[in-house]
Amino acid sequence: MSEKFDAIIVGAGPAGSAAAYSLAKMGFNVLMVERGKYPGAKNVMGGRMYAYALNRLIPDFWKEAPVERCVTREKLTLLSEKSSVTLDFQDNELLEPPNSFTILRAKFDQWFANKAVEAGATLIPNIRVDDLLWKDKRVVGIVAGTDKLEANVVIAADGAVSLMAEKAGLKKFLAKEFAIGMKEIIEFSGKTIEDRFNLASEEGAAQLFIGQCTKQIPGGAFIYTNKTSLSLGIVVYINQLIESKVEAYELMREFNSNPAIAKLIAGGKIVEYSAHVIPESSRTGLFTDGLLVVGDAAGLLVNSGITLMGMDMAIASGMAAAEAVKIAIGKNDFLKKSLSYYEYLLKNDFVLADMHTFKRSPKFLQNTRLYSLYPELACKLFHRLALVKGPKKRLFDEFLEETKGKKIQIIRDLIKGLRSL
Ligand SMILES: Cc1cc2nc3c(=O)[nH]c(=O)nc-3n(C[C@H](O)[C@H](O)[C@H](O)COP(=O)(O)OP(=O)(O)OC[C@H]3O[C@@H](n4cnc5c(N)ncnc54)[C@H](O)[C@@H]3O)c2cc1C
Repeated sequence: MSEKFDAIIVGAGPAGSAAAYSLAKMGFNVLMVERGKYPGAKNVMGGRMYAYALNRLIPDFWKEAPVERCVTREKLTLLSEKSSVTLDFQDNELLEPPNSFTILRAKFDQWFANKAVEAGATLIPNIRVDDLLWKDKRVVGIVAGTDKLEANVVIAADGAVSLMAEKAGLKKFLAKEFAIGMKEIIEFSGKTIEDRFNLASEEGAAQLFIGQCTKQIPGGAFIYTNKTSLSLGIVVYINQLIESKVEAYELMREFNSNPAIAKLIAGGKIVEYSAHVIPESSRTGLFTDGLLVVGDAAGLLVNSGITLMGMDMAIASGMAAAEAVKIAIGKNDFLKKSLSYYEYLLKNDFVLADMHTFKRSPKFLQNTRLYSLYPELACKLFHRLALVKGPKKRLFDEFLEETKGKKIQIIRDLIKGLRSL
């Protein structure tokens, strides 16, 4: 292949496909290179995508995309060893228009990349990009094995551990900025899922867990309901996992055998297991001469405790990158100053606005009391409320007794939490 492309996109995840689809629709000559056998083959996520970003690119996408269930039920469970407290929020307004969907990446990424191909982009799967091609200190293409391919702009959409951002000198990897996520897909009949999660057909649940499930290591666990399977997993900060000397597989095993979880997954068949890193607080430079960085590769992800937004950040940043490339092509200027329009677009959209709003959340979420003291406290309080064994105390007195010597700390954490999440 000796032709020069308007843009080469490295990685066919949601960020890459959003950029490729947008540029192809604008009529540009786009190549997307993916190392997996097919888009989505190597991709891992919890399983919930908010609809907002993709709906702006492909209105009513859910009518054609392989989405699983529309999430109408949100649950947060605080787990101790023997008991659990669950907040259960149900809102049918989350259906119309749909707020979020559970998805399976192997199907979804193929569909999305195929949309880009239908729009005119070229997709080459099964090829790993090894390096960037440089000329006069400017990125002018990619190197894959012995092949060198040229483009006006390269878009690095190669995920959390972005080789392209590293090669461009835009990123240094620090373990403390990353979390690791482990995930299983467990098969059931649709009816079993609907019965166990109290759902109508097509409706879905997203359930998050904190406490005992991570053995006090900052992080949490999740279950998302698909049509005929559950996506279940654990996310923990890498540094703290290493320090704790706990094996990752042990966390999964114990989570699955916790009484609150065991009954939800009883009788299911594990059909897939995977693990991947998450850039919890790993920001990178967004552009350099001839290169833009999008999605996880740029560390564009928000975890506000309940809401994990990685997919929509990836899609919105891919769209913004395409817009910036269009303007750069119009000016025939692919140097930093021209490509900085990408950052301007992100600042004026929810991407960098949300990153700014929740900038304190990664630090706050590493507070170990969130995973030990508070879930234990909630479980103990509810235990006392539920138990009838002689004279009972009022809730407030139970609370005072359970929090003896810890009240100032609790108030401090509460204030920090309200300022961070
Ligand atoms: C366990 C877990 C749970 C998560 N849960 C959620 C969730 O519920 N909701 C949510 O919104 N987000 C979630 N996320 C985050 C979400 O998965 C990411 O934010 C999102 O996938 C980012 O998309 P991306 O396109 O930037 O990167 P990716 O999806 O990682 O795509 C990168 C692509 O680049 C390809 N690639 C990498 N290197 C090369 C190379 N050298 N050459 C060619 N191709 C390459 C990869 O194969 C991949 O296809 C979760 C992540 C994990 C790990």
